Amino acid sequence: MTNKDLANLIFPNITKTIEDYNQLYPERNVEGVVTRFAPSPTGFVHLGSLFASFVARKAATDSNGVCFLRIEDTDQERLVENSVTEIIRDLKDFHIEFDEGMISETEEQGLYGPYLQSKRKEIYQTFAKFLIEEGKAYPCFYTKEELEEIREIQEVSKERIGCYGKYAKYRDLPNEMVAEKIKDGEPYIIRLKSPGNFDKKVVVQDLVKGKIEFPENDLDIVIIKKDGLPTYHFAHIVDDYLMRTTHVIRGDEWISSLPVHIQLFEVFGFTPPKYAHLSPLMKVDEETKNKRKLSKRKDPELAVSYYHEAGIPNEAVLRYLMTVANTNFEAWLDANPTLGIDDFQFDFKKVSASGGLFDLEKLYNISKNYISRLKAEEVYDRTLAYAKEFDLEFASILEQHKDYSISIFNIEREQKKPRKDYSTWKDVKEQVWYMYDEYFHDVHYEFGKINDLEEIKHIVMTYFENYYDESDDKETWFNKVKALSSELGFCPDMKEYKLHPDDYKGNVADVSTVIRVAITSKAQTPDLYEILKLLGKKRILERIHLL
Ligand code: GLU
Repeated sequence: MTNKDLANLIFPNITKTIEDYNQLYPERNVEGVVTRFAPSPTGFVHLGSLFASFVARKAATDSNGVCFLRIEDTDQERLVENSVTEIIRDLKDFHIEFDEGMISETEEQGLYGPYLQSKRKEIYQTFAKFLIEEGKAYPCFYTKEELEEIREIQEVSKERIGCYGKYAKYRDLPNEMVAEKIKDGEPYIIRLKSPGNFDKKVVVQDLVKGKIEFPENDLDIVIIKKDGLPTYHFAHIVDDYLMRTTHVIRGDEWISSLPVHIQLFEVFGFTPPKYAHLSPLMKVDEETKNKRKLSKRKDPELAVSYYHEAGIPNEAVLRYLMTVANTNFEAWLDANPTLGIDDFQFDFKKVSASGGLFDLEKLYNISKNYISRLKAEEVYDRTLAYAKEFDLEFASILEQHKDYSISIFNIEREQKKPRKDYSTWKDVKEQVWYMYDEYFHDVHYEFGKINDLEEIKHIVMTYFENYYDESDDKETWFNKVKALSSELGFCPDMKEYKLHPDDYKGNVADVSTVIRVAITSKAQTPDLYEILKLLGKKRILERIHLL
C-alpha cells in the first residue's frame, strides 16, 4: 500500500491539492507588512490582546500593508457565544479596524478567506493529506491512557516530554497495518513525522527579541486532532501561508513553539514569515513584590472596561500602549505635543524585547496631556457621554448648560501650554463642580492666610461694589484688583512686598485668593478673570451672600 493509498483512505473526500489553493490565493501585490490579529473567540478583549492587535494594525498601516482579522476557533470546547461581535466592537472602540477578515459572527470580507478557522477544515486536511502522501505525517493510535503512561515514564526518568524517538510508536508502522486499524475503526490523530534532530540548532531572527537559537524540534507534534480540526501549530502554518502573511506579530508565549513552526514551513517547502514576539505587560505583585505578567484573575486593570469605567479616553490608552510598543514614542510626543499616534512612524526595531512594567501613573499622565489638547466641545461631548453612563445628575446639568459648560472647559485651553486639569472624564466634575449653582451649597471654603470672615466679606464686598466691572479687559481687571489691594492695605506689587512685608497686611495674591475662594470655595482654580465673567455679577453676588 502506497502513501498515496493511505492518504486517500484517511481523506477520501479531499480532492483539491495545495496547488489548487495556490491558484485561489495568489501572492499579494502589497509592498508593506501583511499581518493579522488572530484571537480565539473565548471572551472579551483585554489589554494584552488590545496591545497585540494595536501593534499589528499600526505596523500594517505605517507600511501601507494589510491587517486582517482571523478567528481561531479550532478549540471547539472553549468557544464563547458572541465573542467575535464583541472583539470587533471592542477593538473598533479603540479605532482598530481591519482591512479584511471577519466582520461579524458569520460574515467576512476579503479574498483570502474563510477567515474563521472552523470553516477551513477542508483546507487543513488538504495540507495534511499532502504530508501523508509524502510520508511526512502519519496517523497515531495512542489512547489517552497510553499517552499518560508515556508521560509518567518520561517524568520519572527525567526525559523530555512528548512523542519522539522510541516513544513515537506509530511513526514507522507499515501502511498496511495502519490501514487495517483505520478500517477497524480505531480512533487516531495525525502527527507530523518530525525530521528534526534535537542535538542540532535552529537559529531564528525575531524582529523584537533578536537572534534566538533553539534545538531543532524532534517531537512528532499533532497536526490534526480527532475532530478533524487542526492544532494551533498546523493552522498557523496553513493559514499564514495561504493568507500570504509576511509578519506574524503575537504574544511571546508562542516563542517556544517557533522551532515547530519553522520546521512545519520547511516540511512544506514554504518560506516562513517574519516573526515579532511581543513581551507581555508586567507589574510588580503586591504580595510577592516580584515582577509578573498582568493576570486576568488578579488584575482589574487588564480588562479594557476598567479604563472605560475610570473615564480614561481610549486614545490615551492607545498612546500608552504606543509608549510600550515603541520606546521612542514618549520623547517624540513630548517634542510634538500637538501630534498623535497617526503621525508617528512605528518601528519594529524600537519594540522593547523585555516586558515593560505597566504604569498606571504614566497612563493618567498621558491621558491628562491628551485631554488638554482637545477642543472644549469635544471635552463637553465626551464628559456628557461618560456622565450619561455613570452620573445621570451631572449629565442633566451638562445638558441644561451646554454653552456655559463648553465655555468653562475652554478656560486656558486653546493656547500653547493648555491647562491640564483632567486625567479622566470623571475628573471633570471633580474639577469644575463649583461652576454650577446646583452643586454650590454647603461648601467647604479653602481660605488660607486671610480667614477672618468679617475681613473676607469686607474685601469681596468692596471689590464687587466699587471695582468689579464685567466689561473690563483682563489688564484693567487686574489693575483694579491691585487698586483694591492698595486701598485695603495690601501690597499691590509682589517685588515690593518681598522687600517690605511688614509694611502691609498682605499682598495682591492674598486678595485674589480671597476673591477666588469666596466665589468658588477653591484655593486653586483656572483663570479667575474668566471664571468671574462666566458666572456673571448676579450669581457672584448671590454667592457672596452665602458667606
Ligand atoms: N489564537 C492565538 C492566540 O490567541 C493567536 C496567536 C497568533 O497570533 O498566532 O494566542
